[in-house]
Amino acid sequence: MEDKDQQKGQTNRTNEGGAGDGQEYEKICYMCRRPESKAGNMIVMPGNMCLCHDCMQKAFDSVMGGNMDLSRIDWSQLSHMPYMNLNLVPSADGDNIMQIPQKQKVKKKKEKSGPAFELKDIPAPHTIKRMLDEYVIGQEHAKKVISVAVYNHYKRVYAESIRKTVGKKGQIEDREDIRIEKSNILMVGPTGSGKTYLVKTLARLLDVPLAIADATSLTEAGYIGDDIESVVSKLLAAAGNDVERAEHGIIFIDEIDKIAKKRQTNTRDVSGESVQQELLKLLEGSNVEVPVGSNQKNALTPLTTVNTDNILFICGGAFPDLERIIRTRLAKKASMGFGAELKDKYEQDENIICQVSPADLREFGMIPEFLGRLPVTVTLEKLTEKLLVKILKEPRNAILKQYICLLDMDEVKLTFDEDALGWIAQEALKRETGARALRAILEEYMLDIMYEIPKDPNIGSVVITRAYLEKRGGPLIQMRG
Ligand code: ADP
Repeated sequence: MEDKDQQKGQTNRTNEGGAGDGQEYEKICYMCRRPESKAGNMIVMPGNMCLCHDCMQKAFDSVMGGNMDLSRIDWSQLSHMPYMNLNLVPSADGDNIMQIPQKQKVKKKKEKSGPAFELKDIPAPHTIKRMLDEYVIGQEHAKKVISVAVYNHYKRVYAESIRKTVGKKGQIEDREDIRIEKSNILMVGPTGSGKTYLVKTLARLLDVPLAIADATSLTEAGYIGDDIESVVSKLLAAAGNDVERAEHGIIFIDEIDKIAKKRQTNTRDVSGESVQQELLKLLEGSNVEVPVGSNQKNALTPLTTVNTDNILFICGGAFPDLERIIRTRLAKKASMGFGAELKDKYEQDENIICQVSPADLREFGMIPEFLGRLPVTVTLEKLTEKLLVKILKEPRNAILKQYICLLDMDEVKLTFDEDALGWIAQEALKRETGARALRAILEEYMLDIMYEIPKDPNIGSVVITRAYLEKRGGPLIQMRG
């Protein structure tokens, strides 16, 4: 045995030196095909099969659950692989013994004996709206619709949980009450109008996990792209792998207009209509097998089942061209009746999107079954100059407040002239990216201020003027004292 070890030691030394004396070949990992000089020390398996550290770890993690005959493996190189996590524990006689690796922890679903939360825990719609008001400016109607939809959704979750109550005999009894249907939401509004922001704020205020997925990356199962289940997997991750918490969460699928049915196509529409079809089951409520700790299903990741029945789905999109569809429909209707003069009004109406109907969305390319599972439609208005100015200064974490706070740390008082704010809002409107442009503009114009002001400790206050933004002058600076 000792001789054999010595011999092996020599072989290794030769290998370390490079090509060796030409009589010995370098060991090659059976799985990844890397040579020992690159992959490090190898373990020799029965039949002279060599495995490197990385592959061994992977193989080990996956086979330890099985019943492989461990005594037939040559573990002599194990000491050269210090990073291998074999879960070795010393036995009573001092030898190392193997321990089955623990699977990643997934919180087990408890058999429910009562509701996960009480009715009084769900904030009433006016409370939800008031909380949203502190962060989201304008969009009054959207906030109202969402507050009611979310309130009803969680009431439904509550009702479902008490419907299946544990009876006297300790068995789950199904009470034949009225079943409230799911109220998933479709959000339609121009880019930068606050769709994502509204959902994010909502989830934070309600303290429920939120997953934001992009519909453009989704494809039909089996094609390159993300599977539909990956959105549930994201939610599970957001819930810290707590299945029960995930099952009461919110999934926001953005850019939903990108999965509209392609109009003229001879090929299979794997990222359009097919994705809508596959989303149906998820939106309605089904059991989905998702990998834990990864968004890819493979042999190495454990799976768990998540029920999407009580998950609130919110789909959002800008739906470009939808305005034209709505105008055409309304104009057609007007020209048939007495309201021919309305035609002009429709042409000028900036917020025509508020008049969207399921027929318009169908024409856009959303399939009726899909729309049927999103019964609540919320439209967001295009932000006006006045609203953009408010967004700059009013929300709890308004951008201006952030800059003021930053300079306050240097003990400098920062203020913005009212007409300077108007100029920023007008600039943002020109960029046509909604409120998103505000931050970009401020970053651009505040760079010099944020660079120069801390240089001089005597500066006490700075006023940003319209002239400074238009590059006709400088900011108003006052010294301390
Ligand atoms: P989209 O409608 O394209 O999803 P977002 O919600 O991502 O737009 O908005 C981008 C950013 O603009 C947000 O992070 C938020 O700071 C700001 N914003 C947009 N709309 C509003 C609003 N109504 N009130 C306050 N901030 C807003």
